[in-house]
Amino acid sequence: MKLPQLGLVLFTFGNVSVADHKQKVFAIKPSGVPYEELTPEKMVIVDFEGHVIEGVLRPSSDTLTHAVLYKHWNEIGSIVHTHSTYATSWAQSQRDIPIFGTTHADHLTVDVPCAAPMSDDMIKGNYEYETGFQIMNCFNERKLDYKEVEMMLVGNHAPFAWGKNANKAVYNAAVLEEVARMAFLTLQINPQAGKLKDSLIKKHFERKHGPDSYYGQ
Ligand SMILES: [Zn+2]
Repeated sequence: MKLPQLGLVLFTFGNVSVADHKQKVFAIKPSGVPYEELTPEKMVIVDFEGHVIEGVLRPSSDTLTHAVLYKHWNEIGSIVHTHSTYATSWAQSQRDIPIFGTTHADHLTVDVPCAAPMSDDMIKGNYEYETGFQIMNCFNERKLDYKEVEMMLVGNHAPFAWGKNANKAVYNAAVLEEVARMAFLTLQINPQAGKLKDSLIKKHFERKHGPDSYYGQ
């Protein structure tokens, strides 16, 4: 319900799920239900193969993408998918979001990856299931760790973000949108803007993460 409040979705766009890895199930938003009408009872419980275990409503149409990611990435607690404007515009442009500033570096030390658009075979096959593999293949090819990079774009489609719990996943979806907006504006002001230098990337990331972090209370 935070997604519309944060301006990340319109109408019934987008979805959020939260996993219980011990029971190998996750709760996900029902398909086509407006955010203001959501209640705990309306959530659908699904296993990591995508089978509905509990609930009367049909789960989000993107359920199989979530199922694939939970099945293979066993330390993700929650996944958020939106079509937020700026992040989706980068996805539609098939461009990684360059690391231009310290806002970006506070959250990840690399460009936000944009996976290639799905192949025709994947689209004609089990589309939502294959979207999960498109995301994982992108991370494998680029040797990225999903625990360090908690946001990405699927080319021609839109962003996915995740985290250890729902609050962190929604936070990451909002950060991704803000970083996407800032990168767009940066290139408007200076199309030749350079990437952030390594010393600042390292400094900002380590302030918030790792053994010597000193950000927050
Ligand atoms: Zn989508």
